Amino acid sequence: MPLVTLKEILAGTREGHYAVGGFNFNGYEDAQGMINGAAEKRSPIILMASLSACRYIGLKQTVGMIRGMAESVDIPVCLHLDHATDYDYIRAAVREGFTSVMIDASALDYETNIRDSRAIVDFAKQYHCSVEAELGKVGGKEDHVVVDDMSATFTDPEDVPRYVEETGIDALAIAFGSVHGFYKREPKLDFPRLEKIVSLTPCPLVLHGGTGIPVEDFKRCVRMGMSKINVGTEFKKAFTDTLRKMCAVLPESQVDTKKYMQPVKDVCAEIVKGKIDIFGSADRA
Ligand SMILES: [Zn+2]
Repeated sequence: MPLVTLKEILAGTREGHYAVGGFNFNGYEDAQGMINGAAEKRSPIILMASLSACRYIGLKQTVGMIRGMAESVDIPVCLHLDHATDYDYIRAAVREGFTSVMIDASALDYETNIRDSRAIVDFAKQYHCSVEAELGKVGGKEDHVVVDDMSATFTDPEDVPRYVEETGIDALAIAFGSVHGFYKREPKLDFPRLEKIVSLTPCPLVLHGGTGIPVEDFKRCVRMGMSKINVGTEFKKAFTDTLRKMCAVLPESQVDTKKYMQPVKDVCAEIVKGKIDIFGSADRA
């Protein structure tokens, strides 16, 4: 199918009590593996490229590659630019064909966050592209965005309705205890805060920092109305672990690079299938 927007792919998630996974890829193997896993489960999927992934692959190449993958399967696929703080780059990505972008103005004050996010929404609309924005600050390290424990701030539910209304965004990333990267201690999610936010806005909500969150917590978030769950680090770990293993297992005489990379694709597909089972998005394509 042609790429779909974030708005389209998240429609009905809250009412249907399932979430769509947003998975970070960095090249061909992980991206194709992720799509293979979702296709097998008949699940919608959001493929996310960070700014550094886009710069590594190339903007045109990223869009061309994922578009080709999406058009080869009959499940909805959304191509999303993750955590962008460079507004010129966001506009370039929108023009190039991304069907969703995240503007991360969470480090700025409330009014500036609203103003900047609104400007991106106005621009993206002309290209039939969705926008995700963040209110509050998710801790940890995501690409070039580093938030230390002290400056991570939970989303204030009272700030949400006006923010959603005035920005016109299609999805809202909230901070309620999840962290980017590996967890240094057991994640402790603030469920009452999530419940409050869900009750105050119909806007689809996004959980960032999905690597290492216990299955029961994921399920509870989805039951409560979480619409999109981001997972990145788990794939990077599986990718590098698998590649390391293949280099150790295969003889030096083996120079068919596909033999090294096929297991990487497969492990990414397996992780996606596991997440789809937890998020409840199987057979929702
Ligand atoms: Zn994130």
